[in-house]
Amino acid sequence: MADVCIALGANLGDRRANLRSALRAIKDVARIVAVSSLYETDAVTPDGSEGPPYYNAACRVETELEPLPLLGFLQSVERHIGRPPSRERWAPRPIDLDLLLYGDDIVETDDLTVPHPHMAERSFVLVPLAEIAAEILHPVLERTIAEIAREAGAAGVRRVAETGWESATG
Ligand code: ATP
Ligand code: CA
Ligand code: CA
Repeated sequence: MADVCIALGANLGDRRANLRSALRAIKDVARIVAVSSLYETDAVTPDGSEGPPYYNAACRVETELEPLPLLGFLQSVERHIGRPPSRERWAPRPIDLDLLLYGDDIVETDDLTVPHPHMAERSFVLVPLAEIAAEILHPVLERTIAEIAREAGAAGVRRVAETGWESATG
């Protein structure tokens, strides 16, 4: 059983509903151990353009799926929730599911890099992740998520709902 962390993001449509749908789908292939609070983050893409603000969260799961099949599953969930297959990178999307950590595994293939290559510089990933995986050691940086998150800071990441948002109604 692998200890896996996944980042969830959405900046189109009913963002909270989209994140909930993704979590419901992930339950089909994994046991959900923890879900972070829900955050809102301004979308500023690496090319400097702006989009609608994101809802972001992180979840920690246990699964028997290997990394590549898990990525394939996450991509099928993205399509099911309505993300068009090939849009430009960083375009607004109803759902984005990134595989952040897969136990201590280091994966570098054309289709998959784990740990996620940009997680250490993204507060919108680290703030929710640090809530549920503070003690995990990043296998490449060899520092804990808590340390990496502290260094990145929390600028621009606003908490909009406490843990439990994914099961509460409304
Ligand atoms: P970023 O990866 O910088 O967050 P993005 O999420 O917008 O950008 P996508 O368009 O969702 O990028 O995905 C582009 C490709 O990234 C996917 O087709 C997938 O094969 C690849 N990829 C590599 N590593 C990962 C990972 N750890 N999690 C998710 N996708 C990954
Ligand atoms: Ca992403
Ligand atoms: Ca992605």
